[in-house]
This record gives sequence, structure tokens and C-alpha cells, in this order.
Amino acid sequence: QEDIFKKLVAHCKEYGYVFQSSEIYDGLGAVYDYGQNGVELKNNIKKYWWDSMVLLHENVVGIDSAIFMHPTIWKASGHVDAFNDPLIDNKDSKKRYRADVLIEEQLAKYEEKMNKEVEKAAKKFGDSFDEAQFRATNQRVLANREKWDQLHQRFSDALNASDLAELKQIIEDEGIVCPISGSRNWTDVRQFNLMFSTEMGSTADGALKVYLRPETAQGIFVNYLNVQKTGRMKIPFGIAQIGKAFRNEIVARQFIFRMREFEQMEMQFFVKPGTELEWFDLWRETRIKWHRALGFGDDNYRFHVHEKLAHYANAAVDVEFKFPFGFKEVEGIHSRTDFDLSQHQKYSGKKIQYFDPELGESYVPYVVETSIGVDRMFLQVVSASYHEEEVESSNGQKDTRVVMKLPPVLAPVKLAVMPLVKKDGLPEKAREIIDDLKFDFNCQYDEKDSIGKRYRRQDAIGTPFCVTVDHQSLEDQTVTIRYRDTMEQDRVAIADLKNIIADEVSF
Ligand code: ATP
Repeated sequence: QEDIFKKLVAHCKEYGYVFQSSEIYDGLGAVYDYGQNGVELKNNIKKYWWDSMVLLHENVVGIDSAIFMHPTIWKASGHVDAFNDPLIDNKDSKKRYRADVLIEEQLAKYEEKMNKEVEKAAKKFGDSFDEAQFRATNQRVLANREKWDQLHQRFSDALNASDLAELKQIIEDEGIVCPISGSRNWTDVRQFNLMFSTEMGSTADGALKVYLRPETAQGIFVNYLNVQKTGRMKIPFGIAQIGKAFRNEIVARQFIFRMREFEQMEMQFFVKPGTELEWFDLWRETRIKWHRALGFGDDNYRFHVHEKLAHYANAAVDVEFKFPFGFKEVEGIHSRTDFDLSQHQKYSGKKIQYFDPELGESYVPYVVETSIGVDRMFLQVVSASYHEEEVESSNGQKDTRVVMKLPPVLAPVKLAVMPLVKKDGLPEKAREIIDDLKFDFNCQYDEKDSIGKRYRRQDAIGTPFCVTVDHQSLEDQTVTIRYRDTMEQDRVAIADLKNIIADEVSF
């Protein structure tokens, strides 16, 4: 699986999906650029989200707020005081780690040990193996489970109490070593704020310290009144936004899974107090359906219900997807109560309420949010679409084909048009077809190399249709259309192409 992940990262680079940022200067940590195909896929993901949230919901509207906001917003939201990760340095390797991640990895080790015992026994006992009974009685499994339980309890208590000394104590007691130096020589744990800051303008008193927003949600909260009033919105209603967010992540690993500059697609849904949990359930179901509609397999998704809630939330669930490195969060659905609007009411001194004409009274709305990372969604799409298949080549030999089985609605290039040969008027005919289709679909003209090589190149990009123009095309106005996933070919009229493709690439 790790191997597939490495291949996927290499593939994303080779085919113009994702490049390391500033690569010719040896890169910048956890920052990435999207290439010619990546930007198309990313735009299609954003459109797929926007259309399903905003176009299909009469009571959801969009905004685009600025990245810079008044610094007091981040005081009100709690980010200045509490958007922290607990950090620890190893004195020998001088490497910095997140204390919570080191402990989570230790928990995962105990779990792995339990599972290894079970796997070994399953191999040994074969069909007669009763896993539940083995887990309940095997001494080694029980010992590791006890260690897991104890550590988990101590860890959650320490996190809940923000007890940094206890986090360090856990690391020492567990004998956790630095993965680089193998040493146990740790510094104390301290809090590290994840927000990037910079200075805006300059006045006689000095410049104003502003932050790069760590989430897009606050831009929605502070525009609640503007949108509600100017759009004459009635509760329940939602505001959606797609935009960049920035976090100075310490453990920045796994490619575009955790980046320092990334994009979010968030929607805050404003509801009457007391109805929020019904809406929470509804949005949870709506969102998982959205993911599943892409056809990556229902078993590749699961919900992770938060046991430990942020102080302002009264329900929270993550949608997790099975990445090559395991199930991980792609989206969060949170019932945030009236925390954010009340805080902004307090800090700004403005009344942020809704007059409910049916009740005849005003209240601060409650909020249910859905929050998904564009880049993580991108990683979900490419991990689920990357396939290596054994196929028979034209000379009868076995060959491997790398194909990105992207949902056609998301594919960067919808069709490639290829003249069979570079003469006899075939290139001109191919260009003519493109000129007719390019207003509707992203088309690519491709005349270089043998037709087989061209098909493979398009498979690797994930182009769902290849249209080949041959001599017959000039006579009867037909072409062959080749389907990426089945590799089957049909002869169709040029005049029918638009409908055939539109049928497959719409959502
Ligand atoms: P994590 O626990 O993985 O750090 P989070 O719980 O802090 O994520 P939220 O603050 O709920 O994440 O953000 C909502 C969504 O934004 C996440 O589900 C994820 O898809 C995306 N996201 C958050 N941080 C990053 C990041 N550093 N890089 C890419 N996407 C991110």
C-alpha cells in the first residue's frame, strides 16, 4: 500500500497533476503547486461541490470573503488563544514533533501488536479460528489491550486538561524515542500557535498584526448579517465558501494530505436553536451521499464520531476515507451551537441575531457546518482512481497499463482527438471536431507517436474518451470512440459525439 502511494505521488508529478512548490530551489515544506491537469481536476472538484451545495439548495448561497480579516476576529473565535499544537523537541536530533502525534503513534503500535497476534493465529488455525474468542483470551493480546486502554485514558485526560507536563511524562514513561536519532532526550512540551501572521500597512503607532486565515468559516460568520439582510434569507439557510486557508502545521506529511497552504470548501447552516441536531443528522447523510456518488466504493468510507468535543460543539463527526495509508479524515460535520455568532456579538458590540417572524422573537442562530479540504478531496479522488492493470498488448504479450479511472465529471481532459496519421487531411478533420466541441468540453489534440502509445498516455491522465479520425471519417463523417475503462471502441457519427460525451460527463 505504501508502495502504491509512492507510485501515485510520482504519477501525479509525471502527468502534470501536482508539483512540489519551488522545486528548482529544492522545495518548500508542505507546500505544493498544481500542474496543468491538477488545476483542471481541482476546479472540477470545486464545481462539483459548489453546484451540489449552492445550485441544488435553494436556501444555500455563496460568498467569497477576504483572506485578511480584522485581527479581533481571531481573538473572538478562540484561535489566538487556543489554536495550538503541543510541541516537543528532541535535543539530540534537533527535530521537532507534535507530542500528541508521538503518543498516537505509540497507541497505534499497541494496536498493531494485538492485530499481529490475531493474524498469526488466523494463519495457524485456518477455518476453525474464532477471532472474537482469541481476542478475549490470548494473554499477549490482552496485555497489549490493557496497555492501550491505560495509555488512551491518560492521554485523553492530559489533552482535556491541556496538561503539557503530563504529556511529556507520558512520552518519558512510554520510552518513546526520536524516530531520527533514537534518543529519549526530550525538551519540555510547549504550545505552538498554528496561525501565520504578517504586518499590514504602517501607522505612526506601528503596523497592524494580521493573520492569514486558518479556516474560511469565520469569513462566513462575520458576513452573516450582510447576507441574511441583503438576500432576505429565512432561517434555516446556509452560506457556502471556497477559499485558501493557512496553518503552520508541524507534522506535515503524506503529500497533499496535510499542507501549510490549502483550500477549504465550507458551508455554515444557520438554524433555530433546538433544531440543530436534526440538521446535523441531515447534513451528515447529505454529505456522505455526495462522497459515495462518485463511485469509489461505499466500503471505503466510514464515520468517526468524536468522543471529545470542542467546548463550543454539541456534536461532531468526521467522514473518513480509506487512503493508501489508512482511514483518515476528509471532511468534518460539526454542530457549533451559537458559539461563533455570540462571540462576534460580544467582541464587535453589534447585535447579530435573527428575527423569527413565526415566533415573533429574535435569537442568535445555531450553526451546523460542513467543512472539507479541496486538496484532501483531490487526494481521495486520485488515490481511488489510480489503477495498474495487466493487459494484453497488440503483439499478444502481457503489459501493464496505468490508468486513472477518474469519474468523467471530474476528469481534467474529457476527450482527446487523434488523427490516425499526420497527413491526408486527417489533422484538419480532427481540429474541426475540436473546434466544434471545445466550448463544451476540455479537449486535447494529440498526433504524436503510435495510436497505442497515445491511448496509454490518455489513460495515464484519465481522459475518459479518445476519438480517432481515420480515412473513413472523411468519407462518411464517422469516427471511432474508445472508452478508457473498458478499452472498447465504437464507430459513431461525428454529429453524435457531443451528446454521447455530455451524457457521461454531467453529474
Ligand atoms: P486534522 O485533524 O487532520 O488536522 P482538522 O480536524 O484540524 O484536521 P478542520 O479544522 O476540521 O480539520 O478542517 C476541515 C477540513 O479541512 C479537514 O477535514 C481537511 O479536509 C481540511 N484540512 C484541515 N487542515 C488541513 C491541512 N493542513 N491540509 C489540507 N487540508 C486540511
